Parts: sequence; C-alpha cells; structure tokens
Amino acid sequence: MAVLWITDDRFLDHDTGRAHPERPARLRAVIDGVRRADLSDALVPTEPRMATDAELLSVHHPSVLDSVQQVTQAGGGRLDPDTVLSAESEAAARLAAGAGLAAIEALDDGAADAAFCAVRPPGHHATPVRSMGFCMFNSAAVCARALAERGEKVLLVDYDAHHGNGTQDIFWEDSRVMYVSWHQYPFYPGTGGLLERGEAAGAGTTINLPMPAGATGDAYHRGWEEAVLPAVDAFDPDWLVLSAGFDAHRADPLTSLGLAAGDLPTSPMRSFGWYPPVGGSRFWRADTTWMRWPTRPRPRWPHWLAPNGDRSRPPEAVRARRWPQPRLRCCHEP
Ligand SMILES: [Zn+2]
Repeated sequence: MAVLWITDDRFLDHDTGRAHPERPARLRAVIDGVRRADLSDALVPTEPRMATDAELLSVHHPSVLDSVQQVTQAGGGRLDPDTVLSAESEAAARLAAGAGLAAIEALDDGAADAAFCAVRPPGHHATPVRSMGFCMFNSAAVCARALAERGEKVLLVDYDAHHGNGTQDIFWEDSRVMYVSWHQYPFYPGTGGLLERGEAAGAGTTINLPMPAGATGDAYHRGWEEAVLPAVDAFDPDWLVLSAGFDAHRADPLTSLGLAAGDLPTSPMRSFGWYPPVGGSRFWRADTTWMRWPTRPRPRWPHWLAPNGDRSRPPEAVRARRWPQPRLRCCHEP
C-alpha cells in the first residue's frame, strides 16, 4: 500500500511560544516517528498547497479569516486565551487546510492508496464563526465539505480527546457528512453530549460518544461497535476522514483518558478492514495530525482483533455485515 505523506517545514513556523502545549515539537515528534519507523519505501512525499479564500469560506464566515489576518499582519497575538498566533500563522493554517485538498487531488490521480497529513495548527475547534482552542481554520471540515460538494458522502471520525465542536457545528444540518466523535466528557469545550445528534437534514448524522475520565480502548471499541457501526452501515460513506488528535493517550498531560497508543485509530480502521497505512506504535503516539483514506476495502479477517482476543475471526455481528467492493477511482482512500 502506498501512502501520501504530506507535511511541510512551514507548519513549524506557526510559533505559539515555548510553553504552549501546541508547539512545533508536536509535529517534529510525528516526523521523527515516521523516520524511526523506516517507512520511506511506503510513503509518497507530496506537497501541500494553500487553501484559497473560497475553500476556507466553504466552512467559515468571512469574519474568521479577517480575525486571523488582522492578528498575523500585526505580527502576532492572541485570538482567545488559548489560541496564539505569530506572523507566519495564517500561512501555516492555510497550508494545513490545503493539505487535505492536495491529498484528494493526488488520490484522485491514483498517486497512492491513502493519505496522511502531518500538519499544524489543528482545526477541529474552529467553528463557522470563530477560531478557538489552538485552531484557526477547520482543516478536516474544509476537506469533507469539498468532497460533499462534488456529491460524495463522508464519514468524519474524530478521536481527539476533546470534542470537535467546530466540526460538529459546521455539519450540524448537513446530511452528506456524518460526524462521529469520541472524547472526554465533561471537558473542554463543553459540547459533545450524547443527545447532540444534528438537526434538520443532518438529524442523526452527528454521533457523540462522550467518555468519562479514565476510559480505555475497550470502551472506545464497544461504543464504536454498538452505537456507531449500524449508523455507518446505513449512511454508506464514500470517504473516511480522520481528525486524528493523539491526546487521548494515557500519558497526555492535558487530558485524563486511558488509551494506549495502539487503541487510538483502531476501531474505524478495523471496521473498514484497514490497518494504519503507516504503522508502529511510535508513529501513532505523536500529535496534531489527521489522515484520510478511501473506505470500502474488503476486510482482512486475519488482522481482526476480536473483543475476546481471538485475532483469527471477527465477531459474529461483524462477519454478518455486507462488505461492498471499493468503488473509488484510486485503488482505495479515506
Ligand atoms: Zn485535543
């Protein structure tokens, strides 16, 4: 399997200060992890591109762009108590939002089977009208909206420890994008309750799995199996976009969840028969990245890890599912 590897040194220019939790070291950890895992023969290095105004405005009010521009043109400052910008931050955020769009374009061309975008700043707290929580522009939402606009259905899974309030708001009434989030609850930003399920045309296409402090991968996996998979089957997505914050790890200092590195991406990936396209626990322990790849591959049962620990066979309910053939133009996707 070939995987697009999309990152750029300009992401490191988004300078939030040495003591800020979302600092360049986060991305360097991802890049170092990939290097240590010796994945170079599986990766297809690909350049990101800047998202245009029109692409950002597909999910944000113009005031969001104006606010970011004002602060960066003044040389830096704060958008809110958490969200620190430097002069180079707007360029980094536009590049982060455009990385997913570059990935779609390359996957459409058949350049690889999946894509991993190692970017910063993060994006899932950025709402239609406000940047917040370390986030300027909602990169995953820009990507999902672009796919939806061309008639494809997107499953957007967010396993960051915080609820993606911005992503939820953006697709609250949009039936073309199903938003699924595990997160610590109650916790910042305060949203993500079980009863938040979307409205109007989007009723039922938002699914929240609020988790108490200390929740482990078993709870994540059970929530996915029992609460999410039936809805995903009915939704029948064309693409999977993962909003992949890694702060649900038990060692993360800002959160109180109990996941191990191997727990983080596994439920959705195993459900679609995909393992992390680039693997190794060291890789997944890093932060501030997101990835996507096309759905609908056939399951690979020998790799299934059943709740009872039997790796050879999937649970009965999963074996009974109907597994359609991949139908994307590239050999596969998110
Ligand atoms: Zn987070």
